[in-house]
Amino acid sequence: MYRTHNCGELRKENIGQEVTLSGWVQKSRDKGFMMWTDLRDRYGITQLIFSEEKSSQELFEKARTLGREFVIKITGTVIERTSKNDKIPTGDIEIEVSALEVLNAAKLPPFTIDDDTDGGDDLRMKYRYLDLRRRPVQNNLIFRSNLALETRKYLAGENFIEVETPFLIKSTPEGARDFVVPSRMNPGQFYALPQSPQTFKQILMVAGMDKYFQIVKCFRDEDLRADRQPEFTQIDCEMAFVTQEEILNTFEGLTKYLFKSTIGADLPDFPRMTYDDAMRRYGSDKPDVRFGMEFTELNDLAQNKGFVVFDSAELVVGICVPGQAENYSNKDIKKLTEWMQRPQIGAKGLVNVKCNADGTFKSSVDKFYSQEDLKGWADKMGAEAGDLLLILSGETDKTRKQLNELRLEMGRKLGLMKANDFKPLWVVDFPLLEWDEDAQRFFAMHHPFTSPKKEDVQRMLNGDHETMKNLRADAYDLVINGSEIGGGSIRIHDRVLQERNFKLLGFTDEEAEDQFGFLMGAFEYGAPPHGGIAFGFDRLCSVMNGQNSIRDFIAFPKNNQGRDVMIDAPSAIAGEQLKELQIQLNVQESGGEK
Ligand code: ASP
Repeated sequence: MYRTHNCGELRKENIGQEVTLSGWVQKSRDKGFMMWTDLRDRYGITQLIFSEEKSSQELFEKARTLGREFVIKITGTVIERTSKNDKIPTGDIEIEVSALEVLNAAKLPPFTIDDDTDGGDDLRMKYRYLDLRRRPVQNNLIFRSNLALETRKYLAGENFIEVETPFLIKSTPEGARDFVVPSRMNPGQFYALPQSPQTFKQILMVAGMDKYFQIVKCFRDEDLRADRQPEFTQIDCEMAFVTQEEILNTFEGLTKYLFKSTIGADLPDFPRMTYDDAMRRYGSDKPDVRFGMEFTELNDLAQNKGFVVFDSAELVVGICVPGQAENYSNKDIKKLTEWMQRPQIGAKGLVNVKCNADGTFKSSVDKFYSQEDLKGWADKMGAEAGDLLLILSGETDKTRKQLNELRLEMGRKLGLMKANDFKPLWVVDFPLLEWDEDAQRFFAMHHPFTSPKKEDVQRMLNGDHETMKNLRADAYDLVINGSEIGGGSIRIHDRVLQERNFKLLGFTDEEAEDQFGFLMGAFEYGAPPHGGIAFGFDRLCSVMNGQNSIRDFIAFPKNNQGRDVMIDAPSAIAGEQLKELQIQLNVQESGGEK
């Protein structure tokens, strides 16, 4: 037997018992005549003691050969510790070892296996099995496992059934780029890995499953921005015979349950904000509402006073930063302006107004505006003495985006984004279509299966080009602390409307039939009204733990180049495999036979 107990469970009550433990050597302290060793496993750390006096010479010598990360088995007696450690649950006891067996020696690990490690990202990924021994990373995986379990519990309780959908499916050009898999049995043809089970879950509704969910891997071959993974996990859900309202309530219920059952947090009811409001008030469709600094539009007050930058702008809009007038010197403002002018943000300039303690105002545009004017701005922005107003102008969409960046930066600087302060909201009424000026075509804002709002259906079927820009969808996002946690929609379940949508998205009839004929065909055999949502599971894990990176919640993540550096994938494949697949490469350095 390897163990009678694990390394996290022995307490005072066990004193006097003979126990056997197995685990990894965390570290040893050798005092010459005595030696203490921390033995670690997933459950905790237990201190072992070897002494010259009580152990045999042979045992004591053997203990001295133990290195970090050796795998050992010991037998000994639980005794009370003379100097207790109240930082760990086993800190009242230690084990006086009578037998030691080295199960496996270990090379010196390339980085410290401790809560804080000295290992850089690459090293940690290459030796992920060592990184995963670290407590914080283990806790993340344990959390993730728990969250999945609680998700299943809740949804099963609501009558959802978990159905697996295929990973080898058909490639379609809409959305992100597909990962493809060559088919040996059908030379020259390829499967695609699903970007999401979207069409399958809709088919399941046509099939009468009523309530479906799946905790499922999705694959998107996108250029990896920070914190994106080519394969990631969704809690994917679909329901039949539901309105948007019922879906929001169901998944608000799930979210509240998950927060309560895993981290003990009580979430407030989720406010709902239209997409238009979110853009107007925060310049973002995923506003972080943990703090204020909402946008105030100033066109009516700031234009036609001779300041040509504002006069020629489509939008003049600002935020009020509370209490920062005195904290921001001219130098600080200059720095902030330069930060806003970086190409990533691209603001032309930044106007500031300081609301002085004595009730006067000092601005960077004093030449054009009287004290009275500036007071008007301050009043509209709800500013008080001591506040700092920051104002941008220009083309509406761009300016809002820029001000969103500034607002978030100020929120960060002022410490207003508290990790364990959870502020969820639903953003609703997204536009159905988005016109891309460069490509001269419409894109689906959510995806091509999203339904317009009931009152927009006729306009969508009969309206002109301009009308299409203003259609609203029954589409919604769940946003928590500025992160998009989930998104979904009511779907089109009518063939004619679906055909119309494909046409608007630039599909020919043949292309639509070729790629989605199966779905439109299914719509002709009694498709119920339906809708659903998918949660980003990895992101949910990180947000719930107040962390920014999803990587630490994924056991074996890819790096920024999309590589798994532990197993060294992707990699070339053997010429024989290529031949079988009837694939010829013309990539020079492929490594495969030509
Ligand atoms: N399939 C969608 C997505 O992956 C979610 C949904 O509409 O349910 O974003």
